[in-house]
Amino acid sequence: MKVTRREVLKTVAAASALAAIGVPLTTVVKAADNEPDEWVKSVCRFCGTGCGVMVGIKDGKCVTVKGDPNNHNAGFLCLKGALMPPIVYSKDRVTQPYIRKKGKLEPASWDEAMGLVASKFKAAIKDHGPQSVAYYGSGQALTEETYLASKIWKAGLGSNNVEGNPRLCMASAVGGYVTTFGKDEPCGSYSDIDAATCFFIIGSNMSECHPILFKRVAARKQANPNVKVIVVDPRKTNTARIADEHVSFKPGTDLAILNSMAYVIIQEEMDGQRFHNKYVTFMTNDKKKVDFDAYMKFLEDYTPEKVEELSGVPADQIRRIAIMFAESSGAMSFWCMGLNQRIRGVWANNLVSNLHLLTGQIGKPGATPFSLTGQPNACGGVRDTGGLCHLLPAGRLIKKPEHRAQLEKQWGLEPGTIAPKPGLHTIALWNAFSEAKVKAVFVLCTNPAHSLPNANIYLEGMKRDDNFMVLSEPFMDALTVKYADVLLPAAFWCEKRGTYGCSERRYSLLMKSVEPMGECKSDFDILMDFARRMDVDPKVIPFKTVDDVWNEWREVSSITPYNFMGITRARMEKESGILWPCPTEDHPGTKIRYVRGEDPNIPKDYKNKYHFYGKKDGRAVIWLRPYKGAAEEPDAEYPMVLTTGRVIDHWHTGTMTMKVPELRRSFPKAYVEVNIDDAKKAGIKNGDDVLLETRRDKMVFQAKVSDVCRPGLVFVPWYDVNLLINKLTLNAFDAGSKQPEYKICAIRIKKV
Ligand code: SF4
Repeated sequence: MKVTRREVLKTVAAASALAAIGVPLTTVVKAADNEPDEWVKSVCRFCGTGCGVMVGIKDGKCVTVKGDPNNHNAGFLCLKGALMPPIVYSKDRVTQPYIRKKGKLEPASWDEAMGLVASKFKAAIKDHGPQSVAYYGSGQALTEETYLASKIWKAGLGSNNVEGNPRLCMASAVGGYVTTFGKDEPCGSYSDIDAATCFFIIGSNMSECHPILFKRVAARKQANPNVKVIVVDPRKTNTARIADEHVSFKPGTDLAILNSMAYVIIQEEMDGQRFHNKYVTFMTNDKKKVDFDAYMKFLEDYTPEKVEELSGVPADQIRRIAIMFAESSGAMSFWCMGLNQRIRGVWANNLVSNLHLLTGQIGKPGATPFSLTGQPNACGGVRDTGGLCHLLPAGRLIKKPEHRAQLEKQWGLEPGTIAPKPGLHTIALWNAFSEAKVKAVFVLCTNPAHSLPNANIYLEGMKRDDNFMVLSEPFMDALTVKYADVLLPAAFWCEKRGTYGCSERRYSLLMKSVEPMGECKSDFDILMDFARRMDVDPKVIPFKTVDDVWNEWREVSSITPYNFMGITRARMEKESGILWPCPTEDHPGTKIRYVRGEDPNIPKDYKNKYHFYGKKDGRAVIWLRPYKGAAEEPDAEYPMVLTTGRVIDHWHTGTMTMKVPELRRSFPKAYVEVNIDDAKKAGIKNGDDVLLETRRDKMVFQAKVSDVCRPGLVFVPWYDVNLLINKLTLNAFDAGSKQPEYKICAIRIKKV
């Protein structure tokens, strides 16, 4: 059946709402009105769900996409994914290099632009040492690009100032997994959704932020009415609307709720004693091992009655959800920014895993803690390959001499090449850049002017004349372009080849399907050019193609529990995603970690069923993490709480999705969501202009009055560059993960 463009658009507009409640989007997928000559395998450019797509090519141009039926998304895409092609050909594409002269970006040749970049970086290193230069990358860059950049900086330039936007979105999840299990990344996989009988969703609006996964959750519930859904969120989101229990709580008190659930589970004798006796260590905040009795004593501060007072959640509801979780045959937890973007983000992550370890709800189909990732390659590109200031590839740490030595040997470099001190984490890095202590930064595939919290500080810093920022970016209207000293035209998505690794440890190949526009180059080519001009030792960059980088990464991972050796390029071209660890070419990939017979890191003759090999004693940790409030609690002056987040039709800074007319029309402008009771008290009506004011800045938004936010809470989506809510957010960060607390700050509102 041939479908007209008008019909597509009608379908698309309607499907926006449907996607939120998990209605299949095959109509959108079928609706290509431009029959392609060829379909090329790739991955969606947006969220960490990592849906496989097939890119339709006609006359050398990307004309349409459809879901890859062989990838985990089984052919489904949400609207954002289905509407990617027009973004490629946006009039806002950067198609040639620019150099800022007298405040204005002027066209330049590649040689002029890269020559200037190299001279600035060389001068900074000569005058101020290698710690005065930095790389700031992205969970949207390809795995090979991040691996290469990290290697150039750490092994080639002697600087560990390698950071990226995943620090802003996933660092607390990394901290949570590493402290609990000794290794990063989820234990389970998406296929657990099809076996779970209880979904515990906390700090995630999955229906809007990971719609295709939410569709799978909703389908599971629809097919089996006994499947329970618990949603813990101070907003009554679309996700909460399918919940059996929606737990609305005072923002910031979720740590107490999680401890209270553990208290109830033990009181009801629903803990899995055989499991935690054998496989778990109980540990206090100051890393002292304690016994189960000490844990029970610690939890006495979290009786449901005490926590009701603190959190506003009825004690009976805490009991109900704890029992629901413990008695299910398979409990699967999902969380995302609601837990991660917090000053106690690592603790919040630990407390979710505690519930699984306490009940033994782990390592069997349908039972697993599972963090959701915001970006398509934050896991694969940045976490796994070590693209942060304290990491080396495959979970190794810069501060550990044996890890540095191991990697130097694998890279064929002199011992001592890698500097022993971790570099600056994201907030410290941008503070240092704003003070011109870091002199030169290379920003690639991300938009920090829009995404950093408490943005005014950093926008001022980016304006300085005594520091230098080069930006590799596909779009002219990304806010960071306004501040770049050199702008490089980056090839976009289907114009280059490489790998994305999504939330479930699945790596899929994005095949190049069209030639880059204008003078655009892939970030692989840009980084290699930069490294050569910086006179980086050729031994550090022995790569001719992006596939050479992938093959080196496989080798580097092979002596670690990551082990990608079996994920060859030939396999990736044929298959639609493979989950690591995958040690050999005939290995199918690993869906369940830490379980004998499932995880290839556990010897077959190992005598126990579970082995948390990330910990020396093979035991995972249940942490005694106390409740602590937010960095900035509401008070008499600023009596409400501001939280920020995403909407279904826009992705992150909106640079891409605002280019799609259908998506822009559905959410043209950011707004403030106000609870009906709060609105009544303040005399605010739907559509009124409302002044939002925090200790950092103030701004006017149009009100959307509804029952979504609980009283005392307001929500603003952060995609809108013209209403930059990050001027109001807070840059306080978690002491362990260094991830900022975007989710909670004190605010006051009034009708303008
Ligand atoms: S759910 Fe995420 S990865 Fe999948 S199509 Fe939508 S935006 Fe893309």
